[in-house]
Amino acid sequence: MQKVLLAAATLVLVACGADAQNRTAATAPRTGFDSNRAWTDLERQVARQYIEAQLKAIGIGYREQPFDAMTPAGVIKMINVIGTIPGRRPDRIALATHFDTKRFQEFRFLGASDAASSTAAVLELARVLKNRQNEYTIELLFLDGEEAVNTEWRDPDNTYGSKYYVRAAQQDRSLGGLKTLVLLDMIGDRDLDIRRDTNSARWLNAIVWGSAARLGYSSTFIPQDFTVEDDHLAFVEAGVPSIDIIDLDYPQWHTAQDDLDHVSARSLQIVGDVVLDALPQIEQQLAAAPR
Ligand SMILES: [Zn+2]
Repeated sequence: MQKVLLAAATLVLVACGADAQNRTAATAPRTGFDSNRAWTDLERQVARQYIEAQLKAIGIGYREQPFDAMTPAGVIKMINVIGTIPGRRPDRIALATHFDTKRFQEFRFLGASDAASSTAAVLELARVLKNRQNEYTIELLFLDGEEAVNTEWRDPDNTYGSKYYVRAAQQDRSLGGLKTLVLLDMIGDRDLDIRRDTNSARWLNAIVWGSAARLGYSSTFIPQDFTVEDDHLAFVEAGVPSIDIIDLDYPQWHTAQDDLDHVSARSLQIVGDVVLDALPQIEQQLAAAPR
C-alpha cells in the first residue's frame, strides 16, 4: 500500500518537475551555462568544507585528494577527503562514506540518508575513536563522486572517488597498508533494515552481524544475503577485505522525500554501536592473521 502511494507521489513529482524544467528552458538564455551543474559544485564544496571543519575541530589531520573525473557530462573536478587517526601500528583500517549527493534536474535532492547519514556517522565515529588508543591507524575516507552522473547506474559512470583512491594508493604503494575497509552508506532510514552484502568479506559480515546480535539489534541486521555495487568494489577488486553496511530497502531512495522526516538518530546510533563493537574484533582478526 505504501509503495502504491509512493509511486503516485513520485508520478506527481516527476510531472511537476518536467513542467518546471520546461519553464526554465523557455526563459533561460541559451548560453550553455548550466545552473544545475553549478549547484552541484556548490553543494559539493559546502559538504566538503563542513567535513573539514569538523575534522579540524576534533583535532584530526586530513588531506584533500583532488582528481579529474571523466564523466558522461565531461570532466568534473572531484575531491576526496582523507583523515587519519594514528594507531599503535601504521597499518590502516578505513571507515568510509561517500559525501556527494545525486544530481537531479527534476527536483531539489537533499539526500538525508544518501549520503548525509553515513557522513554524519563517520564523523561521530571519528570523535569517539580520536579519544581511544587504537591498535590500527584509522583512516576516515570521505569519498566524492559515488553517484552516477547520468540517471542510470551504469559502469563506469559511478564510484569515481573510490576508484581514484585505489588507483592512487596502488601507484604510491600505500594500498598494502590498508588492511580493511568498512563502508557505510544509506544508514539513516527510520525503518532500518540492513542485509548482508555478498560482495563483502564473509569474515567481516560474521563479525558485524555477531556484534549486532550481541547488542540486541538482530531485527535491524537481518541474516539475509543480497548483492550491492558500491564504493567498496574498487577495494574488493584490489584485494582489500571490505564490508558495505547499507540499507537499500528505502522507498525514499533517490527521491525528493529522502529528507529529515524519513531518517532518525536512532538508526545512526545502532550502526555506530555495531561498528564500535566490531572494530576491536576486526583488529584482533587482522593481528592474528596478517593479510
Ligand atoms: Zn545514491
